[in-house]
Amino acid sequence: MQGCDILVRGDGAVGAAAALALSRAGFEVALLGATMPPTAPVADDVRAYALNGASVQLLRALKVWDAIPHEARTPVHDMRIEGDVPGVHLDFSAWSEAVPQLAWIVDAAALERTLREALRFAPHVRRVDAELPCALTVLAEGKGSATRARLGARMASQPYGQRAIAARLASDCPHAGLARQWFRAPDVLALLPIDQPVPGQGLALVWSLPEARARELLALDGAAFEAELMAATGGVAGQLKLASARAAWPLSIGYAEPVFGPGWVLLGDAAHVVHPLAGQGLNLGFGDVASLAEVLAAREPWRALGDQRLLARHARRREAPVRTMGLLTDALLQLFAAPQPLAKELRNRGLDLVNRLPPLKHLLARQAIGRDASLHGL
Ligand SMILES: Cc1cc2nc3c(=O)[nH]c(=O)nc-3n(C[C@H](O)[C@H](O)[C@H](O)COP(=O)(O)OP(=O)(O)OC[C@H]3O[C@@H](n4cnc5c(N)ncnc54)[C@H](O)[C@@H]3O)c2cc1C
Repeated sequence: MQGCDILVRGDGAVGAAAALALSRAGFEVALLGATMPPTAPVADDVRAYALNGASVQLLRALKVWDAIPHEARTPVHDMRIEGDVPGVHLDFSAWSEAVPQLAWIVDAAALERTLREALRFAPHVRRVDAELPCALTVLAEGKGSATRARLGARMASQPYGQRAIAARLASDCPHAGLARQWFRAPDVLALLPIDQPVPGQGLALVWSLPEARARELLALDGAAFEAELMAATGGVAGQLKLASARAAWPLSIGYAEPVFGPGWVLLGDAAHVVHPLAGQGLNLGFGDVASLAEVLAAREPWRALGDQRLLARHARRREAPVRTMGLLTDALLQLFAAPQPLAKELRNRGLDLVNRLPPLKHLLARQAIGRDASLHGL
């Protein structure tokens, strides 16, 4: 059997981007997708991802960004985060950050389709249906990866006892590029602007709720669910109508340990899972891809691709961003889930204070916008 330089296992967004990035860095790549049906409803994925500047830059370097249909990627110009006290909010705007947009909202299904299409034309990537001998195995099988344990890695994961309900909505008001998020103790509700299915008036819903409440909401018929949404948003985003089926994902936080070994490395959700409240899981996965491609491209000529010292360089670069994001999302969730009056007072004062402190607000905005990924070698 003819071998290759790198075997990528998993053809979700992270695996597909990894295959493209590594082939552009000059390696012969074999891509092994799932032989079993995926557990996540990928074909009809109703999610839309908030992608930061670094992720967009990676997709541009891979020649994928411009091929995503225009209506499937919508810029975010403003962001409003509401606390659980009326009138308390934190606002960000692209204008005050002097950037064209704060983030992009990208249709999940369109992104995966475009990545798959790009793979068909990538000269150094071939799809395979069985393992083959390679110097390095890149594992991007998602959080439920079965191969991870075989390699000797373990996912230490902590369930939140929450589910995220996602759906596409149509409003009778223009979205105006405004992303809204409500921290409603204990649930977190986000409405993200996207020009699908209604140009200028589409919204992507991500509503994280305790399990029992999520089950209740999913059992409601469309009209009753819309009434719950209107009550939760107070009508500020217009009259909201469901424009897709609803889907739900169980939420957890988790880190795999170790993330690399002799001849293998974990990327994306196979390596780390965070709560979607900050919309950062895939951004972290794309950050892994950019880092690995860069480290491998810059290796000493005598060093093998599966050399643990080389993989340790990549792992060191990724540890701080991944752990910081995990800590941040977890801390926010715990702070807003606490029912005590003191916690409520603190979190709302904190939100209000940040809103009134331009330097701190600017710092937070810069983190969310995402520094440009360093894409040397792609
Ligand atoms: C409700 C919700 C909203 C989110 N919103 C955002 C957001 O706004 N921004 C953001 O950045 N992130 C967001 N995320 C996180 C994001 O969805 C994940 O981080 C991302 O999908 C991870 O991609 P992945 O390719 O690592 O894993 P997956 O998407 O799980 O893909 C894994 C792939 O591997 C394949 N596979 C599985 N087992 C095998 C095997 N044995 N062999 C070969 N292939 C296999 C699967 O079929 C699948 O195609 C959100 C998550 C949720 C739940």
